[in-house]
Amino acid sequence: MKYSSQRSEVINISRQMNDCGINQGTSGNVSTRVDDGFLVTGSGIAYDAMEPQHVVEVTLEGGYFGEFLPSSEWRMHLDIYRTRPEAGAVVHVHSPYATALSCLGEDIPAFHYMIAVAGGDTIRCADYATFGTEALSVNMLVALADRTACLLANHGMICFAPDLKTALALAVEVETLCHQFVIARQAGEPVILDAAEMEIILAKFKTYGKQADELEDAGEQAVLAPKHLG
Ligand code: 13P
Ligand code: ZN
Repeated sequence: MKYSSQRSEVINISRQMNDCGINQGTSGNVSTRVDDGFLVTGSGIAYDAMEPQHVVEVTLEGGYFGEFLPSSEWRMHLDIYRTRPEAGAVVHVHSPYATALSCLGEDIPAFHYMIAVAGGDTIRCADYATFGTEALSVNMLVALADRTACLLANHGMICFAPDLKTALALAVEVETLCHQFVIARQAGEPVILDAAEMEIILAKFKTYGKQADELEDAGEQAVLAPKHLG
């Protein structure tokens, strides 16, 4: 079967997404980029029963191969791959806290510096549109401008990354932030980091997690780099 190992990886990540508690049932969908298109989970198929033929190849023109229908959200996946060349994988979930906050229809402000994980000083909430529509995808693209994750009003969350593992990790991170924000709001009025501080954070994120040699290669200076003693 074509793309056999990539299909297995899509299934594996889909199961992890439910097992780690950021999705449930047949909600959500997962895809990965391949030549001229992407592989996406089939619509309405339980992840623990999903087999490689249930992962559907969709072209960048919106056609699909095989006997199973692609996810009803194929359009959101397609539009991310079309407009964001850095996207190698997409994860969409109905995770409890992100979904709860999406029902408020508000962007999540910089209550914590980790909000920068999605590429900016907020995580936006896309305007509501019916699931599985082009209108929803249009609203999503607006909310994803300069970002790699957004909430979808009264629905859930979507994010993308260079690969499947990183996309799942980002979904977990966004869900954690949403959980923290809910707790902070219950406890009081969170202090929001200002734009100047978030600019510093976003700059630091470019070097965070890189080793010294990678920083030198990139010609970048680690902020507050400790002295290497041997
Ligand atoms: P699919 O089963 O068609 O992927 O739909 C799940 C979903 O989350 C719709 O928004
Ligand atoms: Zn959904």
